[in-house]
Amino acid sequence: MSERIKTPRGTFDVLGEAALARAELERTAKGIFERAGYSRIETPTFEATELFARGVGESTDVVQKEMYTFDDGGGGSLTLRPEGTAPVCRAYLEHGMHKLAQPVKLWYLGPYFRAERPQHGRYRQFGQVGVEAIGSDDPAVDAETIVLLAEILEAIKARDLRLRLSSLGTPDTRAGYKAELQGYLREHEGELSQEVRDRIDLNPLRAFDADHPGTRQVMAGAPLLLDRLNDEDREHFETVKALLDAAGLAYEVDPGLVRGLDYYTRTVFEFSSDALGAQSGVGGGGRYDGLIEQLGGPHTPGMGWAAGVERMLLASDPPPTAPPPLDLYVAYAKPEYREQAFRLAADARRAGHAAQLELGGRSVKGLFKQADRAKARYVAILGDEGTALKDMESGEQRTVEIDTVMHHIRR
Ligand code: AMP
Repeated sequence: MSERIKTPRGTFDVLGEAALARAELERTAKGIFERAGYSRIETPTFEATELFARGVGESTDVVQKEMYTFDDGGGGSLTLRPEGTAPVCRAYLEHGMHKLAQPVKLWYLGPYFRAERPQHGRYRQFGQVGVEAIGSDDPAVDAETIVLLAEILEAIKARDLRLRLSSLGTPDTRAGYKAELQGYLREHEGELSQEVRDRIDLNPLRAFDADHPGTRQVMAGAPLLLDRLNDEDREHFETVKALLDAAGLAYEVDPGLVRGLDYYTRTVFEFSSDALGAQSGVGGGGRYDGLIEQLGGPHTPGMGWAAGVERMLLASDPPPTAPPPLDLYVAYAKPEYREQAFRLAADARRAGHAAQLELGGRSVKGLFKQADRAKARYVAILGDEGTALKDMESGEQRTVEIDTVMHHIRR
């Protein structure tokens, strides 16, 4: 016997209750976004590789080693999308959305792909739900989008949440700070982990992420970007904080908060859940005032976030979901009644009832068991004496004309 084919490493099938829980999460998010005036956007699951190389940043882990990139067959290079912000910004430019009322407020939900080492809460295909608000640098945009994610997490009863917040300032401030931090790290090179030492040139900020005890000790005394912000950026950050305070949302300012993607400016934030273990990030994002320019557009500020669908569900106790109740289960005692039974089930569904036809050739005993499992309210069995209609709630059974079945179940 040949070996059976399984899901690729780091991917999973979604079945039964998990599928219901995901649908419920989507419904919850959709309601919250729509009430705030965000409209849905869908973009392709693959894009020109160049979009992510330019948008996400060449030095990021995502672009360096986590992208699924392939040949388009004509000399071009395509990549399965590892994140949603660059594609949405591409769409904003492609469709001239700068002509719409600003900011343009969008939300999305779909699959994303990263070639990461799989573990609990980390997959190679995962779901993300996210928002992007493009075209305004008002700090209220930052606060509003953060509050939207908080609202979703509250609605799904996510446990043990923490919200961390920081500001990265402008690229200029960051460049000056990066040089300062590199100088500081070189002074302490002997105390740092090899990994951090290797990245002093490319990505020194990642040193704040390290678990290595020596590195952590060095980082406790490191200069902080938050202390180097210019007046405008500092004021912007103060206003974001004041608005979150006004909304009653608790947060910690974490000057070491590092996000994995390069495009962030000013506000960055992350929700994590202590219920999740090592992969504790539930969702996060920030402002990206330079991204649209990087993609060849005019200077256009933007703000957004993405949250992982699987991690949101892992962090919450999703209420037990059940399939919708079944109004009618239709079966037939002899093959010659099959067509009539088929039509009855179809008519019932067209009339708005939940109706299923017996498809497994079950005996009377077997079909009642199945109807019971499906929580059917009525069972109709077509036969020589007419249609036996049983009310599964009261146990009452009677024989009726087939044309009157709908009338009976409606009562
Ligand atoms: P990021 O774009 O890296 O900030 O990711 C945003 C959110 O997506 C994270 O907080 C996670 O919840 C989720 N996420 C990112 N990568 C993965 C992955 N490989 N598997 C599952 N969820 C992920």
